[in-house]
Amino acid sequence: MAAAQAKSVALTFDDGLDPDKEPRAAEWNAAILGTLARHGIRSMVFPSLRHTGGQAGRALVADWSKAGHLVGNHTSQHRNLGSPKLTAAEFIGHVQEADAAFAHLPGWRPLLRFPYLKEGETTAKRDEVRAWMKANGYRPAPVSIDASDWYYDEVFRKGADRARLKAAYVRHLLDRAAYYDGLAREVLGHEPPHVLLLHTSALNAAFLGDVIRAFREAGWTIVAPLVAFADPLYAREPRILPAGEGIVWAVAKEQGVAGLRYPAEDSRYEKPILEAAGLLPANPP
Ligand SMILES: [Zn+2]
Repeated sequence: MAAAQAKSVALTFDDGLDPDKEPRAAEWNAAILGTLARHGIRSMVFPSLRHTGGQAGRALVADWSKAGHLVGNHTSQHRNLGSPKLTAAEFIGHVQEADAAFAHLPGWRPLLRFPYLKEGETTAKRDEVRAWMKANGYRPAPVSIDASDWYYDEVFRKGADRARLKAAYVRHLLDRAAYYDGLAREVLGHEPPHVLLLHTSALNAAFLGDVIRAFREAGWTIVAPLVAFADPLYAREPRILPAGEGIVWAVAKEQGVAGLRYPAEDSRYEKPILEAAGLLPANPP
């Protein structure tokens, strides 16, 4: 009997870092790039200008391109398209501003990662942005494995016990990967190459190597982002409202699968786990 096809996943990193606001930004960026290089992994970063700030932060994004990784669009303002306060036209303007800032990089690809994975709360907004993207050569860059690394980063930066937080974080990512892989098999009938959402954070500067080792030990193959994004899953346009979230979650929602988390992933699910592990005060003031 042929061996089952290995589960595969691409690693993608959102937001970027601003050395003008965070003194350790360059160190964290270099640590993440160093870990990716040591493990022979090609990745993709989705910077937003709100997170990178000016020249110093944009230079850190250029370092990803120089190291052979890809650079996509995460808008200039990192606004939530699911908010009634943001119009499709304003959002498209933010996409164009980020494009103007990064399109000169050799690693640049016109792939859009929606901030907060939100793609519009009305049909009109959702479809106006989708139409603009098609007319302008943009493809969406959804994630299939949503997770809360940003929340673990918050806890990490508050000084939680390093070894135990690392273990909890690795467990969380493997757990979410297994969950979305199972959901994908349920709603698609096959196992797609996955895309994992991570952030350019202190947490990943510290623990990315452990994450990579744990995924490989669990049978995952790490693939380049364009290998994953070539799968038709990532071009699907689920007709749900509010639009967005991870693509497997959105397809499951469209199919009426019961018992989905909403929001798809959030600190509300992780807080009790970290409290039980003694990594958070049980009764915050
Ligand atoms: Zn973001």
